[in-house]
Amino acid sequence: MSEGKPGEKGKRAKDVPGAVAEDGGRQAQLRSLAAVDEVLREPAAQELLERYPRALVTDAVRAVIERLRADILASGEAGAATAAGAADLTPADLVPWAARLLETAVTPSLRRVINATGIVVHTNLGRAVLPQEAVDAVVTAASGYTDLEYSLARGERASRQDHVHDALCAVTGAEDALVVNNNAAAVLLAVAATARGGEVLICRGQLVEIGDGFRIPDIVLESGADVVEVGTTNRTYVKDFEKAWTQRTRAVLRVHTSNFRVVGFTTEPSIEELANLAHERGAVLVDDLGSGALAPLELFAEEPSLKESVAAGADVVTFSGDKMLGGPQAGIAVGRAATIDAMRRHPLARALRIDKLDLAALDAVLRLYLDPELALERVPTLAALAVPLDVVRARAERLRALLTGQRTAQFALQEDAVTLADTVARAGAGALPVTEVPSVAVAVDVGDASALAASLRAGEPAVVCRVQDGKLLFDLRAVDGSELEELAGAVLAALA
Ligand SMILES: *Cc1c(COP(=O)(O)O)cnc(C)c1O
Repeated sequence: MSEGKPGEKGKRAKDVPGAVAEDGGRQAQLRSLAAVDEVLREPAAQELLERYPRALVTDAVRAVIERLRADILASGEAGAATAAGAADLTPADLVPWAARLLETAVTPSLRRVINATGIVVHTNLGRAVLPQEAVDAVVTAASGYTDLEYSLARGERASRQDHVHDALCAVTGAEDALVVNNNAAAVLLAVAATARGGEVLICRGQLVEIGDGFRIPDIVLESGADVVEVGTTNRTYVKDFEKAWTQRTRAVLRVHTSNFRVVGFTTEPSIEELANLAHERGAVLVDDLGSGALAPLELFAEEPSLKESVAAGADVVTFSGDKMLGGPQAGIAVGRAATIDAMRRHPLARALRIDKLDLAALDAVLRLYLDPELALERVPTLAALAVPLDVVRARAERLRALLTGQRTAQFALQEDAVTLADTVARAGAGALPVTEVPSVAVAVDVGDASALAASLRAGEPAVVCRVQDGKLLFDLRAVDGSELEELAGAVLAALA
């Protein structure tokens, strides 16, 4: 890697577009920027060269100089003063900046977050938090060899699916089961294995965009089947499906409208009607449930029942591992043996297979579901949704005491700057979109709330909260009791 030759400074400045002749001041500033090799010769840079590979240090120094160059070029009349400052910097001044870039480059990017948003399964914050049993299983699977695809009883090759197959059939009542990388993959595989080269019928009202611009009908098209929209946005009848049926129809896909509701004048065929229709005509019914609520939580009454879909005869029912199940990222497909087996043997099954760490976590989570009461207690997603409001309020009171009390030697907030507020928490991850889960937040009213929220996001651990009416709101439904001291410390540190 080149480290900047003598004369590079002048040459680069001439090459910079926009550094036109009449702008002599800016050109002079660009010329006075240090060269990479000048910075590398600084004694402080020697320390960096001892700690990091030379190529990394060179790249960091180059990045610092490029940033200064960009600042100078971007500076119009208004920014002239800052850019003039950049030109006064000595080569030694640039070393600490390079050191900071190097530190960032070698530190893992993924950081811990305390979720004070009140959204329990937050897709941007990594969805479900795993129960300890699953964390332990991941550690075991990650840190040594396992019998992932090996039968210790027979001493020969086996399938990774064996570890979760029986538990999945037991908790869903299905004949057969298969897990893949995520639910979008499960839907893709189900349609590819049953309807490739044919047509898939979907209700118009169920053409769901699942998030980040990705849409179920586009995913289905990638299976090699054509999507046929049936009925209207709000009302679709069995007779609409009969009318749309052709020689090429291979499957009916029901998609749970997981992240929105159409209310009022609406009709959709029941899952039994769709199953009967598909089976009478030699096609299959694929039911994408999205979240797949399995736990005995009152809140889940609004979600379609997984067991009912299976019992109604859906050939494949798919759902996510990391939504309301509260497990790892996974796509779970359960249903009739003939269809699940076709999925298992499809080439895409290999491309979409679940990795061993997620499989280990899923294995552990499913064991908890064998005892539904135990699942409610042990699975953090379920516990966060089920915890009584007075427990959430007690967390809020404790956080308030930690923020205002003198227990922390450093610094505390004024009593009147910290209040409790009743809030509405959400299940999140596109599940139960209209269900309001009562919750309690600590509201902090001190100065510039958005600036404080930014410092909180920059902290360690990072804290993500809500900003409302100029106040910071820390919703405590998704904050574990064991995180409160850390949360208080992070808030006080951001304010100090
Ligand atoms: C979330 C969701 C998906 C996608 O699941 P992933 O596990 O995120 O791939 C598909 N369909 C529906 C209805 C969903 O709600």
